[in-house]
Amino acid sequence: MYSFTTIQDFHQDINTGRITCEQVVRYFLQNIEQSKRLNAFVEVYAEEALQRAKDLDEKKQKGIPSGKLFGVVVGIKDVICFKDHKVTAASAILRNFVSLYSATAVEKLLDEDAIIIGSLNCDEFAMGSSSENSSYGNVLNAIDESRVPGGSSGGSAVAVQANCCMVSLGTDTGGSVRQPADFCGIVGLKPTYGRISRYGVLAYASSFDQIGIFSKNIPDAALVLEVVSGADDFDSTSSSKPVPEYSEIQNMPARPYKIAYFRETLEHPSLDPEIRSAIEGLIDKLQAEGHTVEPVKFEFLDYIVPAYYVLTTAEASSNLSRYDGVKYGYRASEAASDLTSLYKKTRSEGFGGEVKRRIMLGTFVLSAGYYDAYFNKAQQVRKLLIEKTNKIFADYEAIIMPTAPSVAFKLGEKNNDPIAMFLADIYTVFANLVGIPSLSVPIFYHKSGMPFGVQVMTNRFQELSLLHLSKSL
Ligand code: GLN
Repeated sequence: MYSFTTIQDFHQDINTGRITCEQVVRYFLQNIEQSKRLNAFVEVYAEEALQRAKDLDEKKQKGIPSGKLFGVVVGIKDVICFKDHKVTAASAILRNFVSLYSATAVEKLLDEDAIIIGSLNCDEFAMGSSSENSSYGNVLNAIDESRVPGGSSGGSAVAVQANCCMVSLGTDTGGSVRQPADFCGIVGLKPTYGRISRYGVLAYASSFDQIGIFSKNIPDAALVLEVVSGADDFDSTSSSKPVPEYSEIQNMPARPYKIAYFRETLEHPSLDPEIRSAIEGLIDKLQAEGHTVEPVKFEFLDYIVPAYYVLTTAEASSNLSRYDGVKYGYRASEAASDLTSLYKKTRSEGFGGEVKRRIMLGTFVLSAGYYDAYFNKAQQVRKLLIEKTNKIFADYEAIIMPTAPSVAFKLGEKNNDPIAMFLADIYTVFANLVGIPSLSVPIFYHKSGMPFGVQVMTNRFQELSLLHLSKSL
């Protein structure tokens, strides 16, 4: 019976003829079937994935050179476009909408012979921290089904956690890859803003959004990052910096790092004491191993969540104005008397509660009377954070902190308290506000039986050292 460990092992098995792509796809399809109640998938491309696997097996037999991700079975979050497949952002407003083109990241996966097995459930328009805001219903955490998998890329996390694919893509605007990875006990990587093209990603907050990677181990994340990164004419915010061979971390010898941590993050009242002591223990261990790990004063902790929610809702209110019932997507069926009421009916019926809350918040903070008090103020906080971050990285190579203040919480626990839900993003939004790469490494278990990780960050475009240091953890 096949079981997946790493892409490297899988490729070895393929090369020695122990398994075929077709067998592996059948294995994952069976797991998907058995994990149906977790609700991780919006759609499974069973026939298509099998056909592609057969084609790849044939290609191999003919001796045609294989791509870097030959036969790698990937799931993609339902905000990432895949030509001729539905993409709905888990929203009723896009129900049955079919992509007209593929995201650049998807094209790059396919160019390297990956197999896309399905689209994955998430919070509507990637807004949320628990995957409870999906029009397809909640996603369940496979370790404890009474708990959330985190969000917004909950389906992407659970699909990897429950062995329904080898790796998956999510998006991370304020933690949506790292926090669900943390809650599910897997690796979650959010690269530098601009490292991966956002072309073909349904926008939430464009100056924060970034595609991220879920995997069972760091080398797999490195390899996928190597494939999907790079400049793209279709996204002017994508970076033209050359893409290093991230998979080389496999051959890089261990070395000591200069690491900073913020005492404020460990002393925060919202942090679970067990998580705190695990991270403190890790700091001691890293010091004993020869790394420099030092506290740095971070005076902005209480401002980052408010700044994040002001700026992202502002951007969302603008981005989501395109869903109006006129151009595409859902249109209210009841005859509208005029254009304004068509917009109103369509948007009232098509968007879920959390999305409406954010559109209204964003509209408010951008309104003439409040623009300076909220939007401008938050932009100033963002600027201060960037300056602070630059100073820190002048002296240190990495920052570590918890990924989330608690382990995966119970379904419904925070659902009626949006502020509590927002505040739980305290450790993840920083990296998006300043655009740096960040990775959640799954290394701990809580007495509740749930996993949790530690978050590692490096300076912009320093993914190589981010992956290398994370692997040594
Ligand atoms: N929980 C955060 C939010 O709701 C992050 C979401 C994300 O990264 N897409 O905005």
